[in-house]
Amino acid sequence: MDKQSTIIENSLKAIMDDKEFLPDLKAQTREQAYQSLVSILTTPNHIHKSFLRVTMENGTVERIPAFRVQHNDVLGPYKGGIRFHPSVTEDEVSDFSKLMTLKNALHEVPFGGGKGGLEINPRDYTEKELNLICKKYVQYFNDIMGPDKDIPAPDMGSGEREMDWMMAEYKTIHPGEPYRNSFTGKSIANGGSHGRREATGKGVYFSFRYLMYNYARENEKWLTQNENVFADTAVKYAKKKMTMAIQGFGNLGSVAALEAYKCTYLQNKIVAVSDHNVMLYNEEGLDVPSLVEFANEHDGELPTEDDQLQEYDIKANIHDRDELLELDVDVLLLAALENQLHKDNMENIKAEIIIEGANKPIAEEADKYLSDKGVLIIPDILANAGGVIVSYFEWMQGRETQFMSEERVYERLFDKMKHTMDTILPQFFGDPFPLRQNCYIHAVTKLSTIMFKQGKLY
Ligand code: NAD
Repeated sequence: MDKQSTIIENSLKAIMDDKEFLPDLKAQTREQAYQSLVSILTTPNHIHKSFLRVTMENGTVERIPAFRVQHNDVLGPYKGGIRFHPSVTEDEVSDFSKLMTLKNALHEVPFGGGKGGLEINPRDYTEKELNLICKKYVQYFNDIMGPDKDIPAPDMGSGEREMDWMMAEYKTIHPGEPYRNSFTGKSIANGGSHGRREATGKGVYFSFRYLMYNYARENEKWLTQNENVFADTAVKYAKKKMTMAIQGFGNLGSVAALEAYKCTYLQNKIVAVSDHNVMLYNEEGLDVPSLVEFANEHDGELPTEDDQLQEYDIKANIHDRDELLELDVDVLLLAALENQLHKDNMENIKAEIIIEGANKPIAEEADKYLSDKGVLIIPDILANAGGVIVSYFEWMQGRETQFMSEERVYERLFDKMKHTMDTILPQFFGDPFPLRQNCYIHAVTKLSTIMFKQGKLY
């Protein structure tokens, strides 16, 4: 069973013992409702798969495996990114589609869960070929897409350029129909939202800052009294100067790093950052704005040589990139890839707070091991929803053809995340479950109640 299904099943088991869960049902009918929920939430509604036939510039024809998985639409149209990566598989896309359903339910975004994928390395193709691949994807799947059916967005390996191309193809195939909100993550020129690019990184940092500054400090007395290992960790670090290491310096990692660096609420010292080439380390703290400047001018990459560091007046030592994970720091922010903490390195992880910026950066075994040790993990489902929340704003703006300023977008994003955290945190610090489990319990309860009221659990 995949990771999402295991957590969904565990969450359903936990809520079965709770009298609040579907209280109108008698014991036997509750058991039936539970079994129905397990099967609905652990399997996708639809798996669409095609081999796109694309003629390359040199005249050869390639068949490219392409997927769109629609997990659940009880809360609204399916929603989720399209990943362009050679490791894309049907199982992976399906697993991510479940996470999207639960993420949207948790944050009260009126969308269901979906995910797409293309099994390619986009760097292997010319711009013209990529344009053709995007058009083909829409040609093959357009029947199941649309502003009220299934709304894709970018994911790893894709961005606003690809969404602009896909939206344009959708418009060509569906003349006269609404098209602006058929895709999100588009360029501003094509109806994208201000702040969409920064939304996930800002939201990731906000989740940490809100937990540590607003919640842990304001509730210190209660947290100290209630004998909860995670509350002890939060209180221990809330007023301390925290050292932080950030894995991944792309769209998400660099924005979150800058937010952490500039934060006036908490005292952060970012001692290490890494990308796919290197780790940079300075125990006195790194000059994050200069690193961002360097990355912006060098195709998103960090400096890999001493003379590059000198040119930008950045004081840091260059190390092997994977050393970052095992550094003796207080906070680890994972903003690169999935499965970075796993059974082979979990015992060497020293950070007591881990923020999941990327999706599923902690493998199942490591998640259990670290949680049992009292490591406070702010999970992907809670921390990295900024992208889908601002996608929702983009979708609404496409409907209304009225656009919010960047400032207003962040204001509404933080309001929405604050609302989620205010709902989840009292429950989390009051019971023995890790934060991830609490988020899933909340999301699953919400979906169960809606499905029950819609008569879907018989
Ligand atoms: P990105 O492609 O812009 O950046 C990825 C970064 O990770 C790059 O700096 C890359 O060099 C680095 N990296 C790759 N392999 C690495 C390794 N082994 N060690 C250290 N660094 C490595 O991607 P992004 O948009 O920043 O997203 C990062 C992750 O977050 C992805 O897994 C993505 O699916 C997830 N995510 C992104 C968003 C979003 O809106 N950007 C939303 C939700 C989840």
